[in-house]
Amino acid sequence: MIAPKNTKVSSPTPRLEETENDVVMVNSTYVKCDGGGGALGHPVTWLDMGEDTHVICKYCDRVFKLDPNAVPGGHH
Ligand SMILES: [Zn+2]
Repeated sequence: MIAPKNTKVSSPTPRLEETENDVVMVNSTYVKCDGGGGALGHPVTWLDMGEDTHVICKYCDRVFKLDPNAVPGGHH
């Protein structure tokens, strides 16, 4: 048996593995995301980290990380 050589290997298969999400450092636990606008944009949404130090946008899977040097708002 000889394997046919005409198998499609030209285009890279789009994968849903999202291990390389964009990471955005922010200085607030409450951040706004609109996907960066353009074709990849999405409706403006607000993300609240709560007591966590990061939050992931459910639209574009961006990871917002709280800058450890920043003083979180809401505490006065
Ligand atoms: Zn987003």
